[in-house]
Amino acid sequence: MITINENYLKLQASYLFSDIAKRVASFQENNPDKDVIKLGIGDVTKGLTPASIKAFHEAVDEMAEDTTFRGYGPEQGYDFLREAIAVNDFQSRGAQIAADEIFVSDGAKCDSGNIQEIFSQDIKIAIPDPVYPVYLDTNVMAGRTGLFEEGRYEGLVYLNSTKDNNFVPALPSEKVDLIYLCFPNNPTGSTISKEELKTWVDYAKKNKALILFDAAYEAFIQDESLPKSIFEIEGAREVAIEFRSFSKSAGFTGTRCAYTVVPKECVAYDKDGNTHSLHALWNRRHCTKFNGVSYPVQKAAAAIYTAEGKAQTKALIDYYMKNADAVCKTMDELGYSYVGGKNSPYIWVDGKIDSWEFFDMLLNKAGVVCTPGAGFGKCGNGYIRISAFNSHEKVAEAMERLKAALR
Ligand SMILES: *Cc1c(COP(=O)(O)O)cnc(C)c1O
Repeated sequence: MITINENYLKLQASYLFSDIAKRVASFQENNPDKDVIKLGIGDVTKGLTPASIKAFHEAVDEMAEDTTFRGYGPEQGYDFLREAIAVNDFQSRGAQIAADEIFVSDGAKCDSGNIQEIFSQDIKIAIPDPVYPVYLDTNVMAGRTGLFEEGRYEGLVYLNSTKDNNFVPALPSEKVDLIYLCFPNNPTGSTISKEELKTWVDYAKKNKALILFDAAYEAFIQDESLPKSIFEIEGAREVAIEFRSFSKSAGFTGTRCAYTVVPKECVAYDKDGNTHSLHALWNRRHCTKFNGVSYPVQKAAAAIYTAEGKAQTKALIDYYMKNADAVCKTMDELGYSYVGGKNSPYIWVDGKIDSWEFFDMLLNKAGVVCTPGAGFGKCGNGYIRISAFNSHEKVAEAMERLKAALR
């Protein structure tokens, strides 16, 4: 008899985006003339840069000729991309990361979800609340949690991100082995300072723990004093793995390219306390289960690091940040408190009422769609997430409607 992985039965069905879609559809049915503006999306809206597209086309042409055709590539990624990443994203900021510590992949979602495979079953895990659901669900699937009771899984340590701690969780009071952090944060848009991040690195060193740092939104950081990478923090090489993605930074959500950094010094322990290289373990896992990202896509990603590519991706980020600015200004005017929007495409607004009530009010009074914070965890209740991923025109129109509706 074939039996299932019963851990899957513990998973909570995510009704968040289907609930939103249902409510929007019903509003549209009752208001067929009203143009609904979506500020709820966690996906980019603008096309790839000309630099990436040119490199993409050229690489496709190479694939057509026997002499320049490429078959299976290195699973870890082509050297031209790994070198460009190491130099531009790390060494230029004083973080000593080498090209062979970079594993190119098809997504930070996949990597942040798959990484838990290399750890043992009985580790203690700390996960932020609110949270990007991938960290949580992949550990549920792997059997590292108990049942879901009163909005939380048993067996996990939740790191509350609230107004009281400015949406940067405090160190756990109990000892944990694996810590998930994401800055700039999705969904809250909050950022972490170098000093605060250093306390996490120190905690990890002291407790022989590991930090999984999701930096998918680093490209949106405007404040130069904020860390873009955890490897800008002294001592992080031994205790951290970082996830990066071209999805939000360069519009690759549909094209697929990301990478994970595992420094050579980074270790974990066996039951006898002997150290093992996580670089070696992840390399083994990656080569066994992953075939590498296609050559044209890696070429398109590498083009981001050329002079034109840098200027064009900066323009892309600036475009979205202008939207974020417009949202922040409107919230200031309306007297709503919020976090994010300054170094992040997300604005996390304190609605002062239940998340879904606030969502319904924005939809029904203004025809504007946001994301209810309650969908990201218990601590998200009372909040909504507004996304800067849309056109200037739509955001301007949405903000006018919010002013009229909420004043
Ligand atoms: C969008 C996003 C990613 C990127 O995922 P990809 O699989 O690379 O598209 C990673 N982490 C967070 C928190 C995100 O919001």
